[in-house]
Amino acid sequence: MSERRRFRRFRRNADHEDREPQTPIAWWRLVRYLSPFKLRLALALLVLPFGAGMSLVFPAVISNVVDSILQEGNVQQLDQISAALLFVFMLQLAAWALEGYNLNYIGEKLVMNLRLELYEHLQSLSLGFYTSRRVGELISRLSSDVTMVRTVLTNNLNTLLQQTLVMIGALIVMLTINWRMMVFILLITPVLVAIGGVFGMFMSRVSTRIQDELAGSTVVATEVMQNIREVKSFVREPYEITRYNNAVWSAFKASVRLMRIRSVLEPLMGFLAFSGLAGILWFGGREVLDGRLSGGELIAFLIYGLTVAQSLISLASLYGQFQQALGATRRVFELLDTPADVNDALDATALSNVTGEIRFKNVSFSYDERETVLHDINLDIQPGEVLALVGPSGAGKSTLFNLIPRFYDPTDGDISIDGVPLKQITQASLRGHIGIVPQETLLFGGSIYENIRYGRLDATEEEIYAAAEAANAHEFIRDLPDGYQTVVGERGVRLSGGQRQRVAIARAILKDPRILLLDEATSSLDSESEHLVQEALARLMLNRTTIIIAHRLSTVKIAQRVAVLDGGRIVELGTHNDLMALDGLYARLYTMQFREGLLELARSGD
Ligand code: ATP
Repeated sequence: MSERRRFRRFRRNADHEDREPQTPIAWWRLVRYLSPFKLRLALALLVLPFGAGMSLVFPAVISNVVDSILQEGNVQQLDQISAALLFVFMLQLAAWALEGYNLNYIGEKLVMNLRLELYEHLQSLSLGFYTSRRVGELISRLSSDVTMVRTVLTNNLNTLLQQTLVMIGALIVMLTINWRMMVFILLITPVLVAIGGVFGMFMSRVSTRIQDELAGSTVVATEVMQNIREVKSFVREPYEITRYNNAVWSAFKASVRLMRIRSVLEPLMGFLAFSGLAGILWFGGREVLDGRLSGGELIAFLIYGLTVAQSLISLASLYGQFQQALGATRRVFELLDTPADVNDALDATALSNVTGEIRFKNVSFSYDERETVLHDINLDIQPGEVLALVGPSGAGKSTLFNLIPRFYDPTDGDISIDGVPLKQITQASLRGHIGIVPQETLLFGGSIYENIRYGRLDATEEEIYAAAEAANAHEFIRDLPDGYQTVVGERGVRLSGGQRQRVAIARAILKDPRILLLDEATSSLDSESEHLVQEALARLMLNRTTIIIAHRLSTVKIAQRVAVLDGGRIVELGTHNDLMALDGLYARLYTMQFREGLLELARSGD
């Protein structure tokens, strides 16, 4: 497809998007962000007319100098006027500095406030939200979109007010000098404004498109960096380079389109402005020859004409910038308005003492309201019981898990802890009683000490060491280059799978929850490491209600009961021996899935 046709198609799409109903920007909401800065804003706006006034005085002074002082040959007055001008310019400098500082201060503070508000809101959104969004897109909203909101509220607002003031002022002064010339200038102004408007519209559409495409390339890059292991293991570097290339390439093409429009329209605007000046010279010259205008006044008119043209150009391009920034503002507000799926009930209370009884009553769940993933689950787990969850892949084990800390809410039925429905418990207190040891432990980029302390921020040093000891992690941590202060994660020491698991167990021990959700790692560890992990887990599970997604024979054996999930239903429930006697799915899974584990255990002499 030719570039031109593609562009036409793009324009049609852009038109279509424009016609689609969009959430209107609530202007009062934007203004609300400015309200904490009333004083600074007033100070910045106060100097604004002063700065504009200075720009208007200058041409009048020149006119005066040319017409009287130079003609009269009054050198002393020339010195005085020049000195006065210098002083006035210094005042103008101070006014600009005051205005610039205050506006930028407001802008920076506003970005910070909005970013914090957005971040806080993002933290309140449920897991379901994050699984349906791309991280790169969210980061882009948090960074570049927020910065653009600042542009609307500070820089653009400032330019709008300043240029409007200067333009109106210049027109009034011109009117007082010579109304005929003023009318002449008013005739050419609408042409400039109309062309400027069209120019702005073009620019805004293409700029929005570039912004989207640039965001697209950031999403691709973020995804790849997050999954670099997969990229490398599948040797997909060339594929990823091509994907990024395509994303960047389409942003480049959109930029070229913008450049093309700019390269035609900007000189055209310049040409029109200068033609206007030539027109003023032509018309004004005649006025001078006819004795209706002095030479100095003509010079003043030329400068005022230039000022008006400049103001018009910046106001016209401001329109485009406003459009672009409004798009960003809309996206930020849309995110801020996304409601959390999981909320605390108004009368929710904090659970203080928990025995750890968990009850599922007729619980069903669906992620997307189309496919039901869990069907009518009924399950009573006694305080201190260890229940193993087994079942084929996709049976719903992780989903069932995620319902307990309310990462998702059941579509039907109720879950309760100690007889209190989850919805009646504040999320913070509910999660405070639950410890989760995931399959893959992700550590934060900090010291091991900080990573364990994440389990309970007010833990003492002794408590942290004790937790590491109980998790069989103390020895390996002590042997690291900087002991507990060794930095792990992205730019630090890499820990083995077994070591990471033990850090996660230490974290959970430190938290000391009544309920434990354990997603056993599938990756096999060497027998010594396995032994250390199992021992740590046994200590962790002691006296806690534990649900384990089990992959190992040894784990299933320590469970008092086993629940077998298949197709989102509990199909078998009982002790290991009961289920083996049943000779159903569990017995089949047991022989298939745990045979290898059995052999391994036999080899390690357990
Ligand atoms: P595995 O042992 O492989 O981890 P599982 O038994 O834990 O499997 P779940 O992860 O609970 O199974 O998945 C149950 C079903 O729900 C699957 O069909 C899966 O495709 C679907 N599912 C899981 N997570 C989501 C999600 N975030 N959005 C939509 N569907 C999902």
